[in-house]
Amino acid sequence: MARCKFCGLNRAEVYLDYARLSLCPSCFTSFYENKVRKIVSKYKMVRDGDRLAIAVSGGKDSSVLLYVFRKLFPNLSITGIHINLGISEYSDYCEEIIRDFAKRLNVELIIVNIKEEYGFKIEDFKNTFYRRKLCAPCGVVKRYILNKIAFERGFTKLATGHNLDDLVAFLLNHYIHGDVDQIVRIKPVLPGSKIGFVTKIKPLCEITEMENIFYAEYNQIPYRVEECPLSSGPTVETRREILELLIRKNPSFRHIFFKSHLKRILPALKVESSVMLDKCRNCGMPSSSKTCSFCKLVSKIALKSVSN
Ligand code: SF4
Ligand code: ZN
Repeated sequence: MARCKFCGLNRAEVYLDYARLSLCPSCFTSFYENKVRKIVSKYKMVRDGDRLAIAVSGGKDSSVLLYVFRKLFPNLSITGIHINLGISEYSDYCEEIIRDFAKRLNVELIIVNIKEEYGFKIEDFKNTFYRRKLCAPCGVVKRYILNKIAFERGFTKLATGHNLDDLVAFLLNHYIHGDVDQIVRIKPVLPGSKIGFVTKIKPLCEITEMENIFYAEYNQIPYRVEECPLSSGPTVETRREILELLIRKNPSFRHIFFKSHLKRILPALKVESSVMLDKCRNCGMPSSSKTCSFCKLVSKIALKSVSN
């Protein structure tokens, strides 16, 4: 490979096709950190006095986020929140990775074990309508618990490690299904509300998955390499392949698509998405209907055990 485009001294190890940049590990690390700093400032993601919670799963994106935020914002109050989903040995393996890493970074960590706190585990949804497609209920459970913990404990922002590839894949999926309510939620900052939603931020929203992998490698960031045994395989894989094909044809596809979404589509959709929120009659958290999605989900497991 060529010499690094920035320092001109070291051999380049990373090629960023969307920017036509060849960089050495050290210049790539600075480039990456500058990029995170710019995203945070452009979207006004954090301010003095914020108490930030970062959702950490043990995967690369959230571990990178925890590390880079600790490094770039040493005075910011940061706490990790990890949910142990009770997925056999896999969840314990993820918890162990993140426990060790948070200790190494000297970051406070909150661990929620859903079996102990809520009395069920993700695999219990196998006996419901979802059968083997468990990512859907798992997503609802994670979003609900992360928001609830962050809200109840007074965090001002909740950050997640979603990268550009994730967001573009979600968008494609929601566009295919015409899911406007979900489309309007995909943005760098999703404002909270006093009735129970904490503001959500996505500081890696303009960073590709590959950039996270390189950054993790060059900074010895540990993350799980095992795939979740419940991952809903083929559909996710097919979407990923389609996305890869589009990127091969146009390396800037993800950046252009996300930018158009923010600048052109979202402003046009604003009126369409005014969902009225009430309080869930069961748990008291915000909900667009009498019972929130989480409580509806959990009642499916409860009903199943009653009928068995
Ligand atoms: Fe949950 Fe699916 Fe992720 Fe496994 S792959 S942790 S089931 S969302
Ligand atoms: Zn509820």
